[in-house]
Parts: sequence; structure tokens; C-alpha cells
Amino acid sequence: MRLSVIGCGYLGAVHAAAMASLGHEVIGIDVDPAKIAALADGHAPFFEPGLDELLRTQLDRGALRFSTKIADAVGATVHFVAVGTPQSADGHAADLKFVDAAIEALLPILAPGDLVVGKSTVPVGTAARLAARIDEHGSGASLAWNPEFLREGYAVQDTVAPDRFVYGVQRGDSGIEDGPVDLLDQVYATPLSTGTPRIVTDFATAELVKVAANAFLATKISFINAMAEIAETVGADVTELADAIGHDARIGRRFLNAGVGFGGGCLPKDIRAFAARAEELGRGDSVAFLRQVDEINLRRRQRVVDRALQAFDGSVVGRRITVLGVTFKPESDDVRDSPALDVAVQLKGLGAEVIATDPHGIEPARLRHPQLAYVASTTDALAGAELVVLVTEWREYRDLDPSAAAQLVASPSIIDGRNVLDPVAWRASGWRFWGMGRP
Ligand code: NAD
Repeated sequence: MRLSVIGCGYLGAVHAAAMASLGHEVIGIDVDPAKIAALADGHAPFFEPGLDELLRTQLDRGALRFSTKIADAVGATVHFVAVGTPQSADGHAADLKFVDAAIEALLPILAPGDLVVGKSTVPVGTAARLAARIDEHGSGASLAWNPEFLREGYAVQDTVAPDRFVYGVQRGDSGIEDGPVDLLDQVYATPLSTGTPRIVTDFATAELVKVAANAFLATKISFINAMAEIAETVGADVTELADAIGHDARIGRRFLNAGVGFGGGCLPKDIRAFAARAEELGRGDSVAFLRQVDEINLRRRQRVVDRALQAFDGSVVGRRITVLGVTFKPESDDVRDSPALDVAVQLKGLGAEVIATDPHGIEPARLRHPQLAYVASTTDALAGAELVVLVTEWREYRDLDPSAAAQLVASPSIIDGRNVLDPVAWRASGWRFWGMGRP
């Protein structure tokens, strides 16, 4: 099939390359010429494991092209919309200006039978509004909403072999529209053939599935972080608590790691946008807990900063602090709303001499926070540190040898903001060690 993908960021670039690998002919469109030039040259403009190889293979096969011109999407039957939906500048609601602009740009090139497929995360009600706009234009094209659940760091695998598909389609008096479902089934024929579950539903449910999933995950993380706060007060160990409750299959151990909290380009803005939309709908009470989920999450960043202050008896002024990690999670270079970067910036603001390091996030972090000092090698970053703060759990940091690291630093003190190090081994090597919600 001939497909277009409008918006080639973390979601769209992967989607375009992955769809080409499934046998389709794909054109990726983005308004950012630098991004398109890099993609057309076979280089992802961000770090995502496996993406560069996939891009080059599909470009070489001639199955994948990139362009800044929407006119190059003419001839595609299915047009995926994967543009950003950031938090608005003046509140918690999602800013839909990119989605609206993408739909307006597509309208003149749509042909009868074409399908526009929204993949961006949007407030419930958006798809119905956009479907009306497409109908009003009279091209004979239709709309489906097909939310994306990929995880950065595993995006390629998650796109070619997701754990489920959700199709939101127009529900009329005669039931669900068949045409969009048939087209999406053709697009995803390969993963569907392996038995991947597919839920066909209406627009509103599909939109809600995405934000409900993220709200649930965020709540699970903030739940264990709330337990960490209590554990800190009574001298209990939240990691042992998580292990113990995680054995209950109804609870499960995943997403129960206490630490510095969640961040990134999705969870924080998605729970805020969900709460804002619920307010607009007169249902603010139903998801009022999301405000607490957000607050608990943000308190964990503060907790790490407070611990650092405590390590120096109340002032970090002039202290050399090494921050391990700036991305919001490992295997990604994404620093959007990153707890790690936030901690580094706060410590710098309090007068510390902060040295930040990260395997892939230094350049994106430097663009946002040029005031921080960045060092590429972990060994160089550790040299002379009076305090080490681990805030992104890259494998390299998890595997640090406490004895070797102790030789590099000026003073062996560490805050494990992700609870990934063994306190016994680190203390045995002479380190002052603080975890999150651990004695
Ligand atoms: P992103 O900022 O990395 O990418 C968005 C891209 O859209 C940018 O490259 C931008 O230049 C482009 N763009 C903006 N307006 C455009 C237009 N009119 N025409 C063409 N291109 C345009 O964002 P992202 O992380 O890829 O997220 C995109 C959407 O997917 C968001 O709604 C997000 O919530 C959702 N999502 C993201 C992930 C993820 O892990 N990143 C996962 C699931 C869902």
C-alpha cells in the first residue's frame, strides 16, 4: 500500500520506517527541513536503537522517502498523522495547533477512499471534530484514530509487533464503518497475522484508551513513590515492599520502581491534558487524583535535591556534584520533562558545580540548558566529585564498580535516584549511600 506519515518525530519517523519494513511504500513528511534531510540521509535525528539501520535498509530498497512538501503525499491511500500535541503554553490542556495544521494541509490532497489515521495523543472529542472537518471539505476521505503505545528505546519493535491495535472509527446509526477497518487491516496485515489483538471501537473510546493507559501507568509509579515517602519516614524499604506486593499477580511488579519519578514527552503532559479535558467536560472530579499523581511525581525530584543539600549540611554552593544521566529514561536521548535534567538544573541553581553526563542525551540537554557543564565520559565526569547523583538508570551506571568509582571521586557519596544499585556493595566499598525510600 502507499502510505504517508505526517510528522516525523519520535513516533512518526519510526512509524514510517517500520511501515516500509512491513512491505508498504511510505513517504514521511515533516515541516522541519533539518529533520527531513537527516532522515533522507539514513540518520535518525534522535537516538532510537535500531532505527538508523532500519531507515537505511528501507531507503536503499526504495520503499521509504522523506519530504517537506505535503504535495508529495499525493497518491498515498492512508495518511498517518503523527505530529506533536504538547502541553499548551498557558495551561495544562493539550495544544492541538500542529494536529489542526496537519489536517488542514492534508485536505486539498485527499482523494475519495483515502483514509486519514490519527496517531497523535489527543483529548477525547478531537477525532469527531476532525472527522466533521474532513466531511465538510467533501473529498470523500474518512478518518480513523489509531493511538500509539510505543515505548521510546523499544520503538521499532513496539511498532512492528505491538501488544495490541486499537482502531477508533466513526460509529453511525448502522454501526461501525467497515471501510477504515479494512484499510487498517491491510496496513497491519503482517502483525495481525501473528494474532496481535485488535480492538475496533468508536472515536471517543480509542482516544480515551490512550490517555487511560498513560494515566494508569503514571498512577502506578506515583503509588510506589508515595509508599517511598512513607517508607522514608518510618525507616522501611520500598524496594522490598514492591517485591513483596509485586508477587501478587493482581498487582504485578512492573512499573513499581520507586525513584525520581516519571518524565518524558508523554506521561506528564498526557495526565495533565486528561485532567484539563475532564474539567471541560464537567468531570474534573473523576480524575482529580491525577493532580496528586503529578504532585507526588514532582516531589521526588525535590527529594533528590533535598538529599543533596543534606549531604552537605544544607548548602551545595561550590560543591562538585556529578549527575549521572540527563534523559528521562535509558535507551533514549529524550530530555523532555526529564526528572534527571530537572535535578541537575536545580542543583546548579542552588550554586553547585554540576557536571552532567549521559550516553546519548548531552546534545539535546545542552540545547535546553547550556548553563550546565557536560562531560561525555563517565570516568571523566566522576573525577573529583564530592557527590554523585544517579538519576537515569543507563546500564553503564547500573554496572559501575563501586571500588573503582571510589578511586575517581573526591568524596565517595552517592544518591541512587533510581534504586538500581546494591547498597550493601556500595557501602562495603566505603560509600555514603542514599536510595529512594530505603533506609
Ligand atoms: P515530536 O515532537 O518528536 O514529533 C512531532 C513532529 O511533528 C516534529 O518533527 C514536528 O516538526 C512535526 N510537525 C509539526 N507540525 C507539523 C505539520 N503541520 N506537518 C508535518 N509535520 C509537523 O513528538 P513525538 O514524541 O513523536 O509525539 C508525537 C505524538 O505522538 C504526540 O501526540 C505524542 O503524545 C504521541 N506519542 C508519542 C510517543 C513517544 O514515545 N514519543 C508514544 C506514543 C504517542
